[in-house]
Amino acid sequence: MRFLNDYRDIVGDKVISDIIKAARPLYGKRVIHINSTFYGGGVAEMLTSLVPLMNDVGLDAGWRIIRGAPEFFSITKKFHNALQGDEIHLTDIKKRLYKEINEDFAYYTHINHDAVVIHDPQPLPLINFYKKRQPWIWRGHIDLSHPNPELWKFLTNFILKYDVTIVSHEKYKNDLPMEYKIIHPAIDPLSNKNHDMSATEIREHLEKFQVPNEKPMITQISRFDKWKDPLGVLEIYKLVKKEVDCRLILCGSMAPDDPEGIEIYQEVQQRAANLIESGDVTLLTLESNFLVNALQRASSVVIQKSLREGFGLTVTEAMWKKTPVVASNVGGIPLQIQDGENGYLAEPDDIRGFADRVIHLLKNPDKAGKIGERAHESVRQNFLITRILQDYLDLFNDLLVAKNGR
Ligand code: UDP
Repeated sequence: MRFLNDYRDIVGDKVISDIIKAARPLYGKRVIHINSTFYGGGVAEMLTSLVPLMNDVGLDAGWRIIRGAPEFFSITKKFHNALQGDEIHLTDIKKRLYKEINEDFAYYTHINHDAVVIHDPQPLPLINFYKKRQPWIWRGHIDLSHPNPELWKFLTNFILKYDVTIVSHEKYKNDLPMEYKIIHPAIDPLSNKNHDMSATEIREHLEKFQVPNEKPMITQISRFDKWKDPLGVLEIYKLVKKEVDCRLILCGSMAPDDPEGIEIYQEVQQRAANLIESGDVTLLTLESNFLVNALQRASSVVIQKSLREGFGLTVTEAMWKKTPVVASNVGGIPLQIQDGENGYLAEPDDIRGFADRVIHLLKNPDKAGKIGERAHESVRQNFLITRILQDYLDLFNDLLVAKNGR
């Protein structure tokens, strides 16, 4: 269990003191977060750290998961894809099942909190099945800049009932006449995924998971999802390998709310069969924060070749570990990487461009080191969990605390 004060050495006294001040009017306020998985993916990652911190500063914060049958998650994954721009065959059956699972949840879950925070589209319709007696906040974590219009129209039925929509980027604000707030995601520097590790610990974790480590390693850590483009990473690797002898690791755990993971994994496995056989490419599907931590530290370069990316916590995590990142210039990634300063950006279809940047970093360790140092500092200043805590406290103050003179 971690407490706010544990972060003091990393973020400094002022950050801690500002949070304490912002929490004062909110003591005892009951806040509930609802999403669709306890692990796998960035939302679960953040809630794991954020909810205990909210409690530590005096709120009564809780976290619940919407239960869903596999067909529910298959529908919501289609919604997820269509919100990022895919086509969708939006049938009445899909709409009905989506609403029904939410309605069922409402039968056996009381909500009498002072504020409700709903994460992503899965539990979005819940607002229809409760008597609204408090502010409801919808927190969309994905790239909402080009949603499929038909799906967007349908989801707007629910979104409009919320008091505030939170998105990760200015560009994801849609044209809805409602209050928007931008909160950039962040990482927990003290979690098992991000805390410091000695060289011995790194080696031990890699050995435990049988990750070969005697050659330079380039890595992408991401769910097996078409938007993360693991096949594209494979193509980059083939170009890099022609110039620098190195290994590729693709690490992606299977999130319970992402039913497409297995299919994509199998496709990558087939396409990379020879390289897996020769030991050049390793695919990992284990869920281990220690493993992710060790991989991000042991890698010479981390790649994030997303085609869409709401924010990209994997980028933040690698940057925190001073590992140079080469990532797509999409979604939330350019919020984190200033090209050439604290990492490299490449256009998502520019495989050659990705490969050249990776090769450059592998051949210039001094440059890689400097980029890594600057990456770490930019995360420290902008993307640590204490910042999200402050953002939520500010929002709750706006919504829940009556202001004198207003
Ligand atoms: N992650 C993990 N194991 C994996 C792959 C991903 O723990 O094998 C974590 C990763 O470290 C990060 C989160 O899942 O914390 C992914 O967040 P991101 O914002 O990058 O993408 P999302 O999956 O939410 O689209």
